[in-house]
Amino acid sequence: MKFELICLMTFSGSIKDKEDDISKMLSHANQDLLKRGVPTGVEGGASAVDVEYNQNKLKLKIVSDRYVRAHDAVLRLKKKLSQEMGKKHHIGVRGVEIISYEVEFQVDKMPEDTINIPYSEDIKFDENKCTLKIGKLTQDQLANNYVDRMINRIKEKIDAQFYEGKGEQWILLWCSEEKDIVWNKDPTVEMGKKGWIIKGPTKGKWFYRPVAAKILRTMEKIALEEVMKPLGFEEVIGSMMVPFDTWIETGHMEGVPNEMYYVSEPITRDPKEWEELVDYIKISKEVPIELLSKLVSEPKSGICYAQCPVIYWSLKNRTLADESLPLLLYERTVPSARYESGGRHGIERVDEFHRIEPVYIGTKEQLLELKEKMIERYRHVFENILELEWRMAEVEPFYLQQAGSREAGGHTEEGTIDFEAYLPYRGEREESEWLEFQNLSIFKKYTESFNIKSQTKALYSGCSGIGLERWTAAFLAQKGIDPSKWPNGFKECYGDSPKGLKLL
Ligand code: ATP
Ligand code: ZN
Ligand code: MG
Repeated sequence: MKFELICLMTFSGSIKDKEDDISKMLSHANQDLLKRGVPTGVEGGASAVDVEYNQNKLKLKIVSDRYVRAHDAVLRLKKKLSQEMGKKHHIGVRGVEIISYEVEFQVDKMPEDTINIPYSEDIKFDENKCTLKIGKLTQDQLANNYVDRMINRIKEKIDAQFYEGKGEQWILLWCSEEKDIVWNKDPTVEMGKKGWIIKGPTKGKWFYRPVAAKILRTMEKIALEEVMKPLGFEEVIGSMMVPFDTWIETGHMEGVPNEMYYVSEPITRDPKEWEELVDYIKISKEVPIELLSKLVSEPKSGICYAQCPVIYWSLKNRTLADESLPLLLYERTVPSARYESGGRHGIERVDEFHRIEPVYIGTKEQLLELKEKMIERYRHVFENILELEWRMAEVEPFYLQQAGSREAGGHTEEGTIDFEAYLPYRGEREESEWLEFQNLSIFKKYTESFNIKSQTKALYSGCSGIGLERWTAAFLAQKGIDPSKWPNGFKECYGDSPKGLKLL
């Protein structure tokens, strides 16, 4: 790794006649301050060279290696010069401007396509060596690790070019026996024909009339009675709108910004400001969109994508008492919104859906034990109540084997298990794609990024997304929509069908 940075330091007063002092300070720094961090016995560190003086400005070049990055060296020098010149001449360094900055580093693979990133002026590759020319960065940006993150982003983008299209690593853990399948129809279509569901008022949504609503609620009841309660999970109620900084911490903001629904607020509640808009609506019976866009703010939050980020947020910077571990919570009131676009299908891939999300925090041992207990309870539900044909697989997107996340958030230290069901309407068991109807993960990352601690041990966390639409889609695709043919266990929980409505 090689860094070469040219910068201009502006002092609060003239440095004329003080060149000697500065020059001495710089040569001293080249021996000591700019070598701090270099392992003993190793040649390296940073050096300030090519010094030029002009009125109250000092121009210099800093060359360095990975032990002391040039942008760190600049900040160290700035501080030191301010201290020493302050003591001796009562002047300090007011600002640092980066004139040019070039970083050279090794990459494992050469990119297949051009790579661009913000704040860079040029990126060149030559025999596994990348030369990055950095544009103007402020002192705060330098101090805030922008350069390291730019280097990481370039490496990540090269990796992404290789992983593209590779999808996930998928390892079968367990598969149920084949079950009696009563039909091979798409339940969404058939429920539509019966009038149990209708397409929602905006895209990717459904309106569930009483019978369908009762099926979804029965799924919820089963999950609560048979999984959450026996394991000791307790309910919390989260919030529907999630601020960007929470999603930055979970990684959703960088992982799935293209799937988020964003929220705008009115810039004012003063009715006078809204009067013109109301006039237009009253006269034209349409919403004047351009005018509206001036009355609402740019988004700073989005609609819940998964409930776990707000649960982590609620524990940010807190220490959990040992007696509360493992902490077992679930959220079931906030719907999730995801922009699925071309992927939308039936009730199983929609833009607004309902999940119960259990979130658990504890030591690694506690969570590994919990994972087995949860799988046992889920197995009981899918085998004995829903009588599904289903399987479990350990999954990991290829790019995540390096870094990153599931639910786009955290590194799956202990892995993610997908629960998948056979959908007869999609074709043969062996060839068709099965439906992921829920998952279960354990992470190291979230307790770290939200700084959630215990009294003694390192904490892990995890979540499981129980998708009510997906449970319903899987069940009805296998068991049909004639309640008399449903498995007894489910029928008992469901009870009688609601009267519903008759439309003329
Ligand atoms: P997929 O790969 O199917 O898009 P995902 O990996 O995005 O799923 P997760 O973020 O892991 O899903 O969410 C967990 C659970 O939430 C899923 O197992 C499923 O039950 C439910 N879910 C996710 N997306 C949708 C959707 N668009 N419609 C209905 N349920 C969904
Ligand atoms: Zn989650
Ligand atoms: Mg998805």
